[in-house]
Amino acid sequence: MPDATTIARNLASLRARIAIAAVAAGRHADEITLVAVSKTQPQAAVLAARGAGLSVFGENRVQEAAEKFPCVGASLHLIGALQTNKAAQAVRLASCIESLDRPKLADALARAADTTGHQPALLVQVNIGDEPQKAGVPRAQADSFIRAMRQQFGPTLHGLMCIPPEGLDPTPFFQHLAALADTHGLPVRSMGMSADFEAAIRAGATHIRLGSALFGPRGG
Ligand SMILES: *Cc1c(COP(=O)(O)O)cnc(C)c1O
Repeated sequence: MPDATTIARNLASLRARIAIAAVAAGRHADEITLVAVSKTQPQAAVLAARGAGLSVFGENRVQEAAEKFPCVGASLHLIGALQTNKAAQAVRLASCIESLDRPKLADALARAADTTGHQPALLVQVNIGDEPQKAGVPRAQADSFIRAMRQQFGPTLHGLMCIPPEGLDPTPFFQHLAALADTHGLPVRSMGMSADFEAAIRAGATHIRLGSALFGPRGG
């Protein structure tokens, strides 16, 4: 596990890079939320990141998040593919679910919000590179799905999320997501990870999801 000093040092260097990228894009660093992606990291690493000043975390799996988060007192974003049978647990745990990508999941989340009284913010995940192995609504259906989610959830739908294809210049994909968010008047664009967050900031990211740049390599 990465020690607290390493996490604090990584965070300081990331904050500096975020600030430089923001200024270069004519933006303010405080428009950009760093979501610390703590999947596979032990709770001690989450606590160390909390101690270093981070308050927003991202997890892929509901079960793992449930084991790590109830006692940490931070806000949690669920960023991984979500099964409908996990909807109730997801809405209880998360302040934001970033992976809304199909009507069945929308219905399960709406029901879960009703029964639990918890309503996390929602982001529609767009499969921005139309990759068969990736989650997210296909590009061609994005407009109609976003409209439908707007109807169903109103202002609880905060924005959009994407993961661009590996090995390609991510900028056109980020720009496409930002344009979609603009079209629909949605304020949040969750895009950019450890390898490409500066490009995402230039393209208008409001949330960047950083795992390995903060905690070091996963499983290492
Ligand atoms: C793992 C993951 C990240 C973080 O990836 P890094 O490259 O380690 O920063 C961001 N977003 C999603 C959806 C992820 O699954």
